[in-house]
Amino acid sequence: MLTGLAGLTLSSAMLVGCVDQTKIVEKPTKVDAFLERVEKGEPMPVEEILAYIENDRDAFNGWGEGYEFPVHPAEKHLKGWTIVLDPGHGGDAHKKNWKRGPTGVREAAINLRVGLILKALLENSGAQVKLTRADDSYDMSLAERAEVANTIVRKRDGGVGADLFVSLHHNASGPTANYTTVWFHGPVKWSEPDLDPAKYVAHELGWALRTQVAKTSPIMNDQQMYAKGFGVLKMTRVPAFLCESSFHTNPDEEQRLRDAEYNLREAYAIYKGLTEYAYGGRPTQEAPNVKIDGSEMVIETVLDDGSDKGWWGHDKERTVASTVNVNVNGVQAFAKYDAKSKKLIAKVAVADLPEAESYEVWVHHQNMFKHSNYPQRYSVAFSEGLVDGAKAESKAMLVKRNGIED
Ligand SMILES: [Zn+2]
Repeated sequence: MLTGLAGLTLSSAMLVGCVDQTKIVEKPTKVDAFLERVEKGEPMPVEEILAYIENDRDAFNGWGEGYEFPVHPAEKHLKGWTIVLDPGHGGDAHKKNWKRGPTGVREAAINLRVGLILKALLENSGAQVKLTRADDSYDMSLAERAEVANTIVRKRDGGVGADLFVSLHHNASGPTANYTTVWFHGPVKWSEPDLDPAKYVAHELGWALRTQVAKTSPIMNDQQMYAKGFGVLKMTRVPAFLCESSFHTNPDEEQRLRDAEYNLREAYAIYKGLTEYAYGGRPTQEAPNVKIDGSEMVIETVLDDGSDKGWWGHDKERTVASTVNVNVNGVQAFAKYDAKSKKLIAKVAVADLPEAESYEVWVHHQNMFKHSNYPQRYSVAFSEGLVDGAKAESKAMLVKRNGIED
């Protein structure tokens, strides 16, 4: 077992500021048919997840005196979020020397354990969570994993598409490397809703696992690694990132990863990063009204800075005015934002726009936490063309990804 148990609780408490509830898990009893219950979507307490890991003695060490994981005071801000967790790989136990540490710990098994614990932590906060795989018997294709996030129905509003997709992996290299990286896809300007949560999670992971922080950038573009990027991130059309939390090929790290407590430590860091992100809120806006007025296309919407509507002063200015920006098919609009009414009016000269069946309106703004809005793109179509008085239908578009047509 790790000797740093007290460190997890104490340090978390220091960072959080105050801890309103601490759970202490006693030695568990064996749980049968556990994975079938996860598959059915039954809510699964963290205690049961840890009990499951304890029972899988082939790959993992035993149980300690009890684990502590303080509930983050701000976790209520995750309530209603729809999050898809993707434990990487799977179904490779029969493959010799395939994605294993020096003594045989499989990356796929670690990814699943972290995913199971994280699911329980997030569900405790009121989030809707789906695992792409809740079992270690098969390896889903990357397209199937992305599809889970792209098509999930949100319980919150009945809409389609997860709020976040988080792929869980561990890295491989020589015996000395052991740093944390969190990966996003595409140009930074397309990736703000991916980057906002990724940076919180990257910092929490590096800190919690005590990996080689500052050796390299904690967040990285997947096209640094492969020209086309990571398939799973490229095909996921909702805000997404991929964690390479630590290196299972580092002999010391591999032994730590055997421990249920260490798996909890990792899952807890991701939970904490996501909570800190949700705490600051994700800005959004009403679907824009788009019309032609004389010689101009006029786009009107009302911004929502994403902060808690119950907070004192929530109606005060929380949008960073300099970040408000609108363009149509890349043509810069003249945007006027009124901080009091939160109304945004943007105009583009029709003469500057090409003739097209539909137009892409890009709306951008950030709140005082510098969190970017989502969605950012709308498809706008005028059935009668760009004639004076015409009104358009506007429809939110998925996240833009390199090489994938809308
Ligand atoms: Zn992997």
